[in-house]
Amino acid sequence: MKNPPFVYHRARSLNEAIELLATYGEDGKILAGGQSLLPTMALRLGPPEHVIDISQVPDLDAIGLEADGGVTIGALVRHAQAERSEDIARLAPLIADAMPHVGHRAIRTRGTVAGSIAHADPAAEMPAVCLATRATMVAVSSAGERSIDAADFFDGYLTSTLRADELLTQVRFPAWSPQSGGAVVEVSRRHGDYALVGLACRIDVDAGTITDAALAFFGVAATPLRVADAEAALVGKPASAEVFASAASIVSETLAPTADIHGSTNYRRHLAGVLTSRGLQSAASRIGVPA
Ligand SMILES: Cc1cc2nc3c(=O)[nH]c(=O)nc-3n(C[C@H](O)[C@H](O)[C@H](O)COP(=O)(O)OP(=O)(O)OC[C@H]3O[C@@H](n4cnc5c(N)ncnc54)[C@H](O)[C@@H]3O)c2cc1C
Repeated sequence: MKNPPFVYHRARSLNEAIELLATYGEDGKILAGGQSLLPTMALRLGPPEHVIDISQVPDLDAIGLEADGGVTIGALVRHAQAERSEDIARLAPLIADAMPHVGHRAIRTRGTVAGSIAHADPAAEMPAVCLATRATMVAVSSAGERSIDAADFFDGYLTSTLRADELLTQVRFPAWSPQSGGAVVEVSRRHGDYALVGLACRIDVDAGTITDAALAFFGVAATPLRVADAEAALVGKPASAEVFASAASIVSETLAPTADIHGSTNYRRHLAGVLTSRGLQSAASRIGVPA
């Protein structure tokens, strides 16, 4: 389908983009890589009257390294750039793990990491990675800058707490501890498709005991979802296959994923359990913990 008519604005600076957002509010939308915005416009899913292209705005395409080991991803960092980055592989391994699952190479070449987060698709990898790593979103508007914790960002299907006049300038990922192991695992019908069910998981292990855990699922609800009871069942226990299996059982009992033509609720629930064991095993092995 062709796109409906819209007015195109090319912002040349961050200030100009923010002014345009302030002017058009709910009628305006940021265009970054266009890999989600353009298909949704073509499908007439709430098409904006004003499209504000930020692709020429300078200084938004940096992967920043913070003194404490944290990593920042600017609004125009493409998936492919993150995928190729040695700094991301070393300092933010969960992002590196997610990248090959995001669509296909052509989509990753244009699409941005921040755009994927702003789009807030519950079946997308990066929103779940943000939850599992406790990322912070930095939003800027004509009223100033604010930081939003990932736990407070995703609040519904394709919606977030980002206001219509706000631009997501960067996403901050806290330092990845040497005691952290993580993995992104998913089941999709074909490689590059959105996941039927996916999991971004992280465990912190000290002398064989799990000290912290995050199990962030995607493709199971209207938002990415952490399963607190299963996480609690991991903390204080040894990083072992038995403990991972009991967390997997809790996940399967707790989640009630939405059914669609690709899979029933029970099938997806089963997949979520399988992925829990698989993801945790992989996370443990990456920090040399035999499980
Ligand atoms: C065939 C196909 C398969 C795909 N498969 C997957 C997949 O498996 N996993 C996955 O995660 N994604 C997948 N995608 C989606 C895509 O990879 C991402 O959603 C996309 O890259 C988002 O980034 P973008 O820069 O293209 O955002 P855009 O399309 O430009 O924007 C998306 C939305 O975010 C808003 N936005 C973008 N940047 C900002 C910002 N800085 N501040 C505020 N709002 C902003 C826009 O206004 C728009 O509402 C697929 C897409 C296609 C076409």
